[in-house]
Amino acid sequence: MPVLVMKFGGTSVANLDRIRRAAKRVGVEVAKGYDVIVIVSAMSGETNKLVGLVDDTSPLYDAREYDAIVSSGENVTAGLMALTLQEMDVPARSWQGWQVPLLTTSAHSQARIEEIPTDNLNAKFGEGMRVAVVAGFQGLSPEGRITTLGRGGSDTTAVAFAAAFGAERCDIYTDVDGVYTTDPRISPKARKLDKISFEEMLELASLGAKVLQTRSVELAMRYKVKLRVLSSFEEQSDEAGTLVCDEEEIMESNVVAGVAYSRDEAKMTLLSVADRPGIASIIFGCLSDAGVNVDMIVQNISEDGRTDMTCSLPTDQVARAKQALEQLKTDGGLNYAELVTDDGVAKVSVVGIGMRSQSGVAAKMFKVLSDEGVNIKVITTSEIKISVLIDRKYMELAVQALHDAFELEKV
Ligand code: ADP
Ligand code: ASP
Ligand code: MG
Repeated sequence: MPVLVMKFGGTSVANLDRIRRAAKRVGVEVAKGYDVIVIVSAMSGETNKLVGLVDDTSPLYDAREYDAIVSSGENVTAGLMALTLQEMDVPARSWQGWQVPLLTTSAHSQARIEEIPTDNLNAKFGEGMRVAVVAGFQGLSPEGRITTLGRGGSDTTAVAFAAAFGAERCDIYTDVDGVYTTDPRISPKARKLDKISFEEMLELASLGAKVLQTRSVELAMRYKVKLRVLSSFEEQSDEAGTLVCDEEEIMESNVVAGVAYSRDEAKMTLLSVADRPGIASIIFGCLSDAGVNVDMIVQNISEDGRTDMTCSLPTDQVARAKQALEQLKTDGGLNYAELVTDDGVAKVSVVGIGMRSQSGVAAKMFKVLSDEGVNIKVITTSEIKISVLIDRKYMELAVQALHDAFELEKV
């Protein structure tokens, strides 16, 4: 039988009514003749609650226990979804990550999927099971411990299953009816896209558009998974939602496809470090060892052999980064005058493959921000994106102004 993967995010399984609604949709696909792998997230708010319990118990927690705790929300929804399907006379059972098993690296709280053996599920499909409900977000390390795939990781679970089982499609059901030109919660003018290229979706996701986890887009691109984002709240046709696909499949597109933002960014500057070979390696090696994910990096022009080094990082990693760099100074590994942090910034980015062939996008972006009186603190670019770091209080204004200026509400 052909296989379909259907993933339901937190708001789509937030209570029993919604689980029933999602189960009905699964039933429709089963009736069409598909064997279905359903991937579920925890009920909305549940994972945040579990993370809060960990933080309140132990500020410098053991990541293995963090994973054991925060993965548990998905166990509940997987069981409830299987029961609901059984109530509808659909042969279904639940699977936790370790039961499949979904094998991952041992990088707790941000593990990567290594392999998904298909034998166990296939054996059950062979015996008449029509739906395997799999708890998203969780896996099993080589050491036999429970791992998690990073926040939003159920998207990645879904795509990985679609790749492993050669699914006809991977449908991601969420609380919006597709991928928009920007977060529809920030801009009422955001427009739903019928199609978006893997490359653009990858950039949007990694720059903050949380509708898909970045890694899920990477996997879909690599394994050519037909990936679709659609709403679990509306009746759906086979053409509903947004298809994430190869750029060749998209006939027409704007130079800028979308605007992304990341609210919880911080800026950190090391004042007066020596400007000599090896310094960047020492600083960023130290941050990497501390598990800090640095994004933008800028080095000032040097004066008298000293320079300032600035980078951006997620706000919740500032404490860890500070501790690591202060320790480095104490140990004599790096000499600097001062460490200055600003955790009131946000990153706003414009993304589009059209930028490869059309110039002037950066100039226009900077003009728009300047007209709005928004000061740019750091800039980075790649072939298909431009990102700026600005004061967080201007973030929504900047997103809306850029959306207007690049006329993203129009096709
Ligand atoms: P789920 O719980 O289903 O995984 P998420 O909250 O992780 O859902 O992702 C869906 C949310 O992503 C939407 O509610 C929306 O606010 C946000 N989002 C951000 N950028 C975009 C975008 N460009 N298009 C659609 N949604 C976006
Ligand atoms: N429940 C997890 C989270 O909130 C995984 C997911 O929903 O994708 O991050
Ligand atoms: Mg999500």
